[in-house]
Amino acid sequence: MTSLFKVKNNIGQTVRLNIDQSAISENYETLKKASGSATCGAAVKANGYGCGVETVAQTLANAGCRQFFVADAFEGVKLRNIQKDADIFILNGVFEETISLFAEHNLIPVLNSLSQIKLWYQTSTNQPCAIHIDTGMNRLGLRVNEAYNCLDDLTSVPKLIMSHFASADDPDDPKNATQLEAFTALAQKYAGIDASMANSAATLSNQASHFQLTRPGIALYGGNPFSHRANPMKSVMKAEARIIDIREVLPGETVSYGGTFKAEETMRIAVCGVGYADGYPRNVSGQGVPLRQTLKNGAKGFINGEMISCIGRVTMDLTMFDISHLPLNTVKPGDWIELFGDQIALDDFAAQSGTVSYEILTGIGRRYGPSI
Ligand SMILES: *Cc1c(COP(=O)(O)O)cnc(C)c1O
Repeated sequence: MTSLFKVKNNIGQTVRLNIDQSAISENYETLKKASGSATCGAAVKANGYGCGVETVAQTLANAGCRQFFVADAFEGVKLRNIQKDADIFILNGVFEETISLFAEHNLIPVLNSLSQIKLWYQTSTNQPCAIHIDTGMNRLGLRVNEAYNCLDDLTSVPKLIMSHFASADDPDDPKNATQLEAFTALAQKYAGIDASMANSAATLSNQASHFQLTRPGIALYGGNPFSHRANPMKSVMKAEARIIDIREVLPGETVSYGGTFKAEETMRIAVCGVGYADGYPRNVSGQGVPLRQTLKNGAKGFINGEMISCIGRVTMDLTMFDISHLPLNTVKPGDWIELFGDQIALDDFAAQSGTVSYEILTGIGRRYGPSI
């Protein structure tokens, strides 16, 4: 991997996240190609999936992206300050008290219910908006029959209609076809309005879902958009934790809270400055958390060409790894252990925690944010 890691002097931090901006550009290029004649936008909500929205948005803008999706108006205002010209869509739509932000910062609300639509059309002065239609997710959006009535009655046409797949990560799930059929019929009836349905997985696997605008997220950041296929994307985030101390554990002694790990022989362990307050899930503990009753081993770390195992419970700020099998004095306090990135795939790590790459990426920068 061509590494453009530029680690700033994040002095004192014991977790660092390297974000490979060139990998984000390449991933955008891949998704843009896959989008064919549709425009390729980007979901940059949740601080650019934890990768740092300022830098990520600029990288994407440099690669030609002009349509950004964020969750709420707060994120939208922040993004507007750094992206002056882009279209910024606010997925969660409007509240009475946020409506003034939309004109002031030139944000586009995604209206998700009849009441949001009413609020917007009564208050705003013909600014662009998008309308979300729920075709089977049962989260946000008008019901399909509501949408037909509503779109017929609107006093000015929205800039975009959109819908969202519930199971795009599994292209074989029949639910995709049902949702696509419902949305295609709607898009055909309102053919003058741009339509958008595809997240990352659909952008890559379902051409009929592209319409005029795709809006991938996770694939830009290197997560696998598919649940049962190899990951076609380049890894973006590498997370590392610093070793604070190395200590010996004697036979019969236990490690960490609850004493759930017990040494059978003399061991050497590395105590690292990462814990669940950093978004390093307690669920990857070596022992003694409910998930480990179903998944046997805790997460791995990687250092000096070797995999090392997390032992005992992950704590708020600290996690212990077994380094007994590494040659003496080859690892010392101050060294960095990879948590995931180059040697440990993000999605494998996520699976070890009983979750998905999305949750890991958006959680892991919790304490400091990305290092670049
Ligand atoms: C987050 C989000 C996306 C992007 O989804 P990925 O699976 O990350 O590609 C697209 N559309 C909506 C409505 C979203 O909330």
